[in-house]
Amino acid sequence: MSKIAFIGLGNMGLPMAKNLIAAGHEVTGFDLSDDARAGLQESGGKVADPIAVLVADAEIIISMLPAGKHVTAVYTESDGVIANAAAGALLIDSSTIDVGTARAVSAEAEAAGLAMVDAPVSGGVGGAAAGTLTFMVGGTDEAYQAAKPVLDVMGQNIFHAGGSGNGQATKICNNMLLGISMIGTAEAFMLGEKLGLDAQTFFDISSTASGQCWSMTSYCPAPGPVPSSPANNDYQAGFTAAMMLKDLLLAQEASVVADAATPMGQRAAELYTQMADAGHDGLDFSGIMKMLKGEG
Ligand code: NAD
Repeated sequence: MSKIAFIGLGNMGLPMAKNLIAAGHEVTGFDLSDDARAGLQESGGKVADPIAVLVADAEIIISMLPAGKHVTAVYTESDGVIANAAAGALLIDSSTIDVGTARAVSAEAEAAGLAMVDAPVSGGVGGAAAGTLTFMVGGTDEAYQAAKPVLDVMGQNIFHAGGSGNGQATKICNNMLLGISMIGTAEAFMLGEKLGLDAQTFFDISSTASGQCWSMTSYCPAPGPVPSSPANNDYQAGFTAAMMLKDLLLAQEASVVADAATPMGQRAAELYTQMADAGHDGLDFSGIMKMLKGEG
């Protein structure tokens, strides 16, 4: 069993840390929020601060933070992870952040002799609680192999996507495609309805024809055909439109840096921005259907 330092005990980090504790690891955590720290203590973990003290004797350091600026600060400041981690410690950042920051922080860790992987997740809060997350890992083969046993505790599918930053690249490319396919699916159901087509009839045909995709068969934005989809629950999240917009904006940022034209990704980002501006970014991202129908 390993000594693990866990930084960022929010909606995702706390349930992930709980699974590590349940598996017998010794978890000490830190979060800026009092409630988050109390949550870890109630679950059998310890808390420590500042970060320099937290990481000093940790074998594995995991972070689950909001964005790239938090990751840069937590890892690279003089009182942060890289300057204070013990020799041989393994660093795992599971936050969803921009590829450039992931590669820059990892390079700083490597320069200090520390192995680091970027390991963003999909699966949401439910997957974090159930220990069924998908991890998309970027880093050396050696670092991936070292990280895999602890990621196995928190997830079900662990993929090595290549070198540093490739976990983040996988995550934003996947979610860009998801955002685009969700809008396309919602448009098709909305147009069908206006043409007098019953949603279930369209689903039965299109889900076995060439329009079939995950947004339709597992997460249908039209109420009815997929009972478990948020459309049947007033579009309660789920995966919020705010989180989808975050990932689409990361994809647009990456497109500029990589000089890659992503016009559909750009349009998807614009439409989710419109949904957020209308005050609906707390809804599930499939709630874009309501906006397309002119209902909000
Ligand atoms: P959250 O806001 O609930 O949790 C983030 C936590 O980090 C907060 O508790 C905050 O206090 C803490 N924090 C911020 N700065 C800190 C610092 N300097 N030191 C210590 N703690 C600090 O967010 P979340 O929903 O848990 O998401 C975390 C990451 O996971 C994000 O990058 C998000 O994009 C990604 N993600 C979230 C989901 C989801 O469904 N919530 C799904 C996949 C990926």
